[in-house]
Amino acid sequence: MKIIQTIHYGTNYQNTFWNGKQMVYGDGDGKIFASFTSDIDVIGHELTHGVQQFETNLEYKDESGALNESLADGFGIMIKQKVLNQDAGTSDWLIGENVLNWR
Ligand SMILES: [Zn+2]
Repeated sequence: MKIIQTIHYGTNYQNTFWNGKQMVYGDGDGKIFASFTSDIDVIGHELTHGVQQFETNLEYKDESGALNESLADGFGIMIKQKVLNQDAGTSDWLIGENVLNWR
């Protein structure tokens, strides 16, 4: 299927999401959050929501919604590890470390 993404969504929008048809990324406020495209694991997380919509029966609410989020995080970190040629022992396991200005 086509992979549709919108970047620079809104003005200083501080989140990212899958809306059922596409991935959408805000730029953050530049203080707490940088651009939500700053981390491949975040992109992988949203992409996984798209895959799950068509490949799983997980309703996005309650326990199945939590499982949906968990799978998105799992695939997000695996995508990061693949890109960085890391394994479970060498990965920092951080998702969105460049998005959140926590340092
Ligand atoms: Zn999610």
